[in-house]
Amino acid sequence: MAIKILSPQLANQIAAGEVVERPSSVVKELVENALDAEATQVEIQIEQGGAGLILIRDNGSGISKADLPFALARHATSKISDMEDLISILSFGFRGEALASISSVSRLTLTSHTAEQAEAWQVHAEGRDMNAVVKPAAHPIGTTVEVRNLFYNTPARRKFLRTEKTEFNHIDEVIKRIALVRHDVTFTLTHNGKRIRYYRAVPAQSELAQKQARVAQICGNRFIDSANHILWNHFDLAIEGWVMPLSTSELESSQIVQGIQYCYVNGRIVRDKVIMHAIKQAFQTYYPDSFLSDDKLAYVIYLSVSPEQVDVNVHPAKHEVRFHQNRTVHDFIYQAVMQSLEAHCAQIDLETGE
Ligand code: ADP
Ligand code: MG
Repeated sequence: MAIKILSPQLANQIAAGEVVERPSSVVKELVENALDAEATQVEIQIEQGGAGLILIRDNGSGISKADLPFALARHATSKISDMEDLISILSFGFRGEALASISSVSRLTLTSHTAEQAEAWQVHAEGRDMNAVVKPAAHPIGTTVEVRNLFYNTPARRKFLRTEKTEFNHIDEVIKRIALVRHDVTFTLTHNGKRIRYYRAVPAQSELAQKQARVAQICGNRFIDSANHILWNHFDLAIEGWVMPLSTSELESSQIVQGIQYCYVNGRIVRDKVIMHAIKQAFQTYYPDSFLSDDKLAYVIYLSVSPEQVDVNVHPAKHEVRFHQNRTVHDFIYQAVMQSLEAHCAQIDLETGE
């Protein structure tokens, strides 16, 4: 067969395979966009587990009329302009692929209002039809993205959607992960018209109390009551978080802590082997190996690294990062977690007199 250049539509659909795995990945991308636009309120409305509707409304900076069609174009982003920017990236987005990909596999409507403009504007993109027409609309300052009939034109992918409940649970988990690190933002999540979650931005108490309230809301009081707070820094590394020590009884009821394994690097959720290894090794210092299956460890950890020390551009869904100084980061986390466990274990010794 002769070599042909793919149409932009088809190229977008292929790229969508990487960015848009299921409804929850759409939710993640759209909520991150809202946060990049400095929204303080994000409303997420879901119907039929996201297969019917995913609607995200924010009160962020909005998109100007002139930029609206570009927002849907591939490799179009307002967040970086050169390689230098990529090195010190702090925003969630930077590839300019999400909206292009999502709109190529759904019926997407983007409505936005910036503070500079008198009115709101809207574009609609339907699957392969990429000629976005901009129309006037009504909308307060901020943006609403409405994604209907996800995968309607890619039946092979639609077939892989699981039950409504399963897909919604994935969405719920995505919102938890984001809400855990953005206690300054109010999130509302509804499913089929019913409000399922309401994480209200916690106002100006002390920072710690704020974070603690949000962590308790998401991980449960049981976790926050028994977890040790960690706060430590060393040169340009800083760690804050909660780590729950294990006791025999807690081990028996380990369902309580199941799934509480949240780790953030510079505000991004990650699943990083270096970090997980360091945490586990710290636990191994105090607990016998046979106790320590991964699902028994419970922690919420926020790591700060100077942006040029970490590469976030490794994974399409940005779940992985690469540290320039792996060893240093590993040892830092190991020390921090170990010390927090040590404090706890010493206390137990005192109490029992052992
Ligand atoms: P990226 O986030 O990687 O830049 P996206 O495809 O997700 O790429 O978005 C493209 C562009 O559209 C963004 O760079 C931003 O300028 C604009 N945009 C998308 N969503 C929003 C939003 N909720 N509020 C303001 N601007 C947005
Ligand atoms: Mg984005």
